[in-house]
Amino acid sequence: MAEVIVRKLNKMFDTNHVVKDVDLHIRDKEFVVFVGPSGCGKTTTLRMIAGLEAVTSGDILIGNTVVNEVPPMDRDIAMVFQNYALYPHMSVASNMAFGLKMRKFEKPEIEKRIKRAAEILGIGELLQRKPRQLSGGQRQRVALGRAIVRDPKVFLFDEPLSNLDAKLRVQMRVELKKLHERLAVTSIYVTHDQVEAMTLGDRVVVMKDGVVQQVGEPLQLYNSPANRFVAGFIGSPAMNFAEVTLTDGNGLVTAEAPGLKIALPAELAGRARAHLGRRATLGIRPEDIHVAGPADVAGHCFDAGIEVVEQLGSEILLDTRVGSALFVASIDPAMRVRPHEKLRLALKPERLHLFDAESEIAL
Ligand code: ATP
Repeated sequence: MAEVIVRKLNKMFDTNHVVKDVDLHIRDKEFVVFVGPSGCGKTTTLRMIAGLEAVTSGDILIGNTVVNEVPPMDRDIAMVFQNYALYPHMSVASNMAFGLKMRKFEKPEIEKRIKRAAEILGIGELLQRKPRQLSGGQRQRVALGRAIVRDPKVFLFDEPLSNLDAKLRVQMRVELKKLHERLAVTSIYVTHDQVEAMTLGDRVVVMKDGVVQQVGEPLQLYNSPANRFVAGFIGSPAMNFAEVTLTDGNGLVTAEAPGLKIALPAELAGRARAHLGRRATLGIRPEDIHVAGPADVAGHCFDAGIEVVEQLGSEILLDTRVGSALFVASIDPAMRVRPHEKLRLALKPERLHLFDAESEIAL
């Protein structure tokens, strides 16, 4: 069993409090991704788990053992870095063997492990080359190989794909997912890329300013963001927001802003009732807006002024103005629309989100 448990973890760099009371329970064999904007403390959290950074307060347990005082080498983890951290003067095979030699493994065992890792990663042909004779993608495979041969309890990944070009990154992402299915080793992965987080993670930890905002399965974060930050961070293009007031008239709760009067569906209306008269933020994703048709009731429609039309082939992204708010809508690519036109749009009421304007917490 290799659970990783983090309890009330804090990190101060002098007076700068960069990781704040982080609590996490990462299950055996789980793939957990830490995601958040630059500087949110995700790398520092990972480095504390790795033992590369001292803990200011709190505990880290790997496989039921508190490891706060255990040096990185004895934590039974293997880390893969963004810059690969390969030894330039050593061959691929020697790079992969290095950690095992340090740990006094016998030569036949080292060879067996390198062979297996090279097979898994498809780098058998490259074993005698030096890192400078490899492409970025090949170097990243070698870095993975060096982690695999260790057969660790936990893999730690620090933005391992960010030096690769976009196409290769997508390819390696798929390979990493297959690798995890095959090896089933508890993995923690740091990225600022929410698409990587959503596609790789069994669960995703969203961080901001050193604080965990939400932990959940990718679809849970997408469908039920805990606050406005998570709502805006997960999903691309990002969720649209409008500042609204909530009113109750004849039993119908509406969210109103200039140019917008949306009737809330029963369940959301129930939650909104406690907030009547208060400021709130309405959220709707671009993919939950469409060009209004006969089936759309007036309470779910609004007029939008088209500012920019982006034809992507699979969809059209419209940048529109709705009263004082800017909404992006993803519409059918067969539609013919032009900038500066007015268009009647409709939203899916069951896909609406509401957040308290002050606390930004979901209603
Ligand atoms: P990025 O994606 O840019 O790496 P991150 O979310 O991983 O961001 P961290 O690298 O954990 O963020 O950094 C969190 C905060 O801690 C930042 O404000 C950073 O400047 C600060 N920090 C990180 N390492 C140190 C250090 N060794 N000394 C002082 N401050 C540090």
